[in-house]
Amino acid sequence: MTIKTLPELANIHNACDDYDPNSMPVEQAREYIKAFLAPVKETEKIGLMSALGRVLAEAIIAPHNVPNHDNSAMDGYGFNADDLAAEGTTLLKVTGTAFAGNPLSGEFVRGACIRIMTGAALPADVDTVIAQERVKIDGDSIEIAEPIKRGANVRYAGEDLAQGQIVLPVGHLIKPADLGLIASLGVGEIAVYRKLRVSFFSTGDELASIGSPLKTGQVYDSNRYTIFGMLTRLGAEIQDLGAIPDDPALLEKTLQQAAETSDVIITSGGVSVGEADFMKQLLQKLGQVLFWKIAMKPGRPLAFGKIGQAHYFGLPGNPVAVMVTFYQFVRQSLFILMGQPSPAALPMLNAVCVSPIRKLKGRTEFQRGILFLSDSGDWQVKTTGNQSSGVLSSMSQGNCFIVLDDDVGNVEAGTRVQVQLFDGVI
Ligand code: AMP
Ligand code: MG
Repeated sequence: MTIKTLPELANIHNACDDYDPNSMPVEQAREYIKAFLAPVKETEKIGLMSALGRVLAEAIIAPHNVPNHDNSAMDGYGFNADDLAAEGTTLLKVTGTAFAGNPLSGEFVRGACIRIMTGAALPADVDTVIAQERVKIDGDSIEIAEPIKRGANVRYAGEDLAQGQIVLPVGHLIKPADLGLIASLGVGEIAVYRKLRVSFFSTGDELASIGSPLKTGQVYDSNRYTIFGMLTRLGAEIQDLGAIPDDPALLEKTLQQAAETSDVIITSGGVSVGEADFMKQLLQKLGQVLFWKIAMKPGRPLAFGKIGQAHYFGLPGNPVAVMVTFYQFVRQSLFILMGQPSPAALPMLNAVCVSPIRKLKGRTEFQRGILFLSDSGDWQVKTTGNQSSGVLSSMSQGNCFIVLDDDVGNVEAGTRVQVQLFDGVI
């Protein structure tokens, strides 16, 4: 695939040699989307405790070493390795104590040792620590009967983070470990990109809202709830615009309102064949939107584009297709829009599939699977059963997608397959 410059979505036909909206491989759709994303630029300073899931707008540089002093890795005794006898047992007098946060008072005098606790700073001239259980106490002295290397059980200043080093780069997504790491530098406030503003709504005349009884032919609007859940985990600032009937005037009003206040608009329904023309006209009037048929199952129809400055994702209506297209296209895009230049993909691994799977070549399938620890102690995967794109219980029961690429046909039980984890991650 070649993408030349893409200033306008309207030019995609000219700019991409192999652009075919009616049969687009999954990877190609990802690349096209990526080429049109304009990440958030505005930044803000926030307290560390509010920073989980946010993206760094300024690198974290270590203002000092971590640890700040050479210190003991053990509860034991500290001494200078030159004071050990060349052979046999060494007797060292214990002349003081160093605690974590309470260093040795006075100077350490060579030829002796000190009692030293884990994390306590090493006084000058102490370069080695022996664990307390490795020595024999003899009055106010200790006996060391084993050889011990200089520097044993010592944690050196700067061995975790060195002063001046880039600890975390711009574009890094803050995880729990990072909160601790930044705290270890004594930094309490950091610069992050502002939160991504995402509006979403469902479309369809058949949608009923929770609280009103179902009339014949109606379904409760479940997509808004799954989308809400996935966006919440991503840490977006979300705006729920409800369920909108297939009414051009109402849809137009809702889309325009969303475009004014959002970085991203996500809709479900209305982009499949039959409905596409209707939404297509509206979306083309309001912005630049491309309609694709992706070579994938579930989730064939997908619309992507811009309405004003807002990025637009038109997901299919089927409840499983909504989640699959969100995980395969929207998740990565939102991470990029949040300021991460190359977000980590969902974890992908290999496992033996114990279920036979019928599969047509020429499209990528995302079957819902359950990755489980077998009795023999290895991880295996089975399908959740009915793979219809309306069967949302498959996403609820499943913890992974069994990803079957375009060139894969039927899968026999016992074959290794690719497994993409979605449970607990977003
Ligand atoms: P559509 O893409 O609009 O043709 O919808 C495809 C299928 O998904 C239809 O069976 C719809 O009833 C169903 N569907 C669409 N939107 C929702 C929704 N928000 N919640 C549950 N099912 C939906
Ligand atoms: Mg519909």
